[in-house]
Amino acid sequence: MAATRFIKTNFDLCTGCHLCQLACSQRLLGGYNPHRALLKINHSDENLYHHPVVCNQCRNAYCANVCPVGAIGRSAATGAMEVDHDLCVGCNLCHRYCPMGVVGVDVDLKKSAKCDLCQGDPRCVAACPTGALELAIWDDGPKAVDHD
Ligand code: SF4
Ligand code: SF4
Repeated sequence: MAATRFIKTNFDLCTGCHLCQLACSQRLLGGYNPHRALLKINHSDENLYHHPVVCNQCRNAYCANVCPVGAIGRSAATGAMEVDHDLCVGCNLCHRYCPMGVVGVDVDLKKSAKCDLCQGDPRCVAACPTGALELAIWDDGPKAVDHD
């Protein structure tokens, strides 16, 4: 079984710039629309801190568990939970039951849209100027992926 990879968030480093969302939506849509990104940036009421919320690539994934057709499974190549659009029937249950609120809906395809870690090279991580997002791997516990 592939190791579980996920994006670790360091909210204390986040400036709320939204560059990660622009990079995500650019890959998905070929355009820049943070409202279509598959990660959220929550801001405190006083704008004192900003909290990135990303797909956890959960080891016990609710999105996969609720899917009635088995369309979501872990990629052996990347370790991410991916949607098979040939199987997806667009029921939106994964969108509704994601605990993080980050499984989206592709309004053009009318099917699920979820983070696949950009096939192992997440655009949001590359776009973040502060290190608030970090590609990590679960083994006995989370640790950062070594790119060297
Ligand atoms: S929208 Fe698609 S992937 Fe999501 S639960 Fe329904 S069939 Fe499964
Ligand atoms: S790019 Fe980095 S610093 Fe900017 S909002 Fe996203 S996580 Fe925060």
